[in-house]
Amino acid sequence: MTTDFDVVVIGGGPAGSTAAAYLAMAGLSVAVFESEMFPRAHVGESLVPATTPVLHETGAMAAVDAANFPKKYGASWTASYALRVPSNGFVGMGHRLTADVQFVERDQEGVDRDYTFHVDRGKFDLLLLKNAEEKGAKVFSGVRVLKVDFSDPEQVGLTCRLGSKEVGFSAKMVVDASGRGTTLGRQLKLKVSDPVFDQYALHTWFEDVDRAALASNPQETDFIFVHWLPVKDTWVWQIPITDTITSIGIVTQKKRFAQANADREKFFWDFVDTRPELAEMLRKAKRVRPFKAEGDYSYAMRQICGDRYVLIGDAARFVDPIFSSGVSVALNSARIACKDIIAAHKAGGDFSKKSFAPYEEKLRKAVGYWYEFITIFYRLNVLFTAFAKDPRYRIDVLRMLQGDVYDGDEPKALQAMREVVNAVESDPEHVWYPFLGTLRAPTAAPQF
Ligand SMILES: Cc1cc2nc3c(=O)[nH]c(=O)nc-3n(C[C@H](O)[C@H](O)[C@H](O)COP(=O)(O)OP(=O)(O)OC[C@H]3O[C@@H](n4cnc5c(N)ncnc54)[C@H](O)[C@@H]3O)c2cc1C
Repeated sequence: MTTDFDVVVIGGGPAGSTAAAYLAMAGLSVAVFESEMFPRAHVGESLVPATTPVLHETGAMAAVDAANFPKKYGASWTASYALRVPSNGFVGMGHRLTADVQFVERDQEGVDRDYTFHVDRGKFDLLLLKNAEEKGAKVFSGVRVLKVDFSDPEQVGLTCRLGSKEVGFSAKMVVDASGRGTTLGRQLKLKVSDPVFDQYALHTWFEDVDRAALASNPQETDFIFVHWLPVKDTWVWQIPITDTITSIGIVTQKKRFAQANADREKFFWDFVDTRPELAEMLRKAKRVRPFKAEGDYSYAMRQICGDRYVLIGDAARFVDPIFSSGVSVALNSARIACKDIIAAHKAGGDFSKKSFAPYEEKLRKAVGYWYEFITIFYRLNVLFTAFAKDPRYRIDVLRMLQGDVYDGDEPKALQAMREVVNAVESDPEHVWYPFLGTLRAPTAAPQF
């Protein structure tokens, strides 16, 4: 049967352009349909080192290197309360007592450097999309995929909107990389909202933030900073975008925004003011972008592949941005899924669900680690700091922060963290009991 393309990719974000590059490099005919005209702004600006091997494999690294994005050597957390627990050897996090990790501390397969990048997603996504095109993918911008027809067992039919027209295309299979738009997840009713996380983010860019203001080490000012606020489950990111521009975002529970009944600006400053030193840092700077809100972003899919389709990146799953895992999941899910797609193509074109079973298994396992790690972080964030400072677990925590979760066994720190959380939850006298967050995900066996 002749189709317009072997594979159509819905969405030209990091997941879609990476998948398109892999498929085109393997000789498949591939088209990317992207509804926006790039460059377009996008949230998700801080990368982790697990992106590096993928950028090398797809040949995009040279352009990323040339783009002069700020280098990210590590991550730092600050909090507004003090806590010491000398009896059990842990040191909690207090005001001006930051925890930090540096990527140089742990070698990672396929990673040839001790840094990754913070990126202006407008530029980064355009660069990856151009790379896909250079590798041979056909890129159609300003084309929205409206519906995918799976009724023919030999091919998929796509209905797309181009300006005021509807146009049809055919392919042997489709890769959904439409991000939180979740084109197929919605069409096929695969989407399940997270039972625990219902976070909301409000973010913007500032000019001339003194990034050293809350740093314990002046050499770490270009790290990503996560500043916990003295409001449960609430934190602020600080991400360098250029020498002078810094991205700032607040993440909290959505219900708090509803309760506050405030406009975005007031909500932002009311929260920031709960950390006076953070407020002072930001009030001296100038906001240069409107506030943008992101909500309803925690969900999973009942299945991430089926006959003639796979879902990758945010189209497959998204939980919470606390560990900057999103772009790394986008790139690595594209990498892993494309292995199966290319193998199926080479073996004669059986694009049925069973061809993608290895992808589904691998991605679910990796994202499961992220989910539990994130869950524990929200449940008891002092524990995370303690583990990051404890030589027994530091390297394992760093492994997660590098995004190194796709191969190998479960990180050891997870088991240990699970046990500590259970111990704290069951003992109201525990010194950490007051620090338990309100989000109660099933830490021992997350099924979601
Ligand atoms: C508050 C917040 C903070 C975050 N911070 C970070 C961070 O610091 N680091 C990090 O790595 N990640 C972060 N993320 C996650 C990150 O934004 C995503 O994981 C990442 O962008 C996923 O890439 P993607 O390619 O899957 O989707 P996207 O980047 O969203 O790309 C999807 C593309 O598909 C297009 N599209 C959608 N529907 C259609 C359609 N029907 N037809 C054609 N095109 C379509 C869209 O226009 C878009 O360009 C954050 C997320 C949130 C919500």
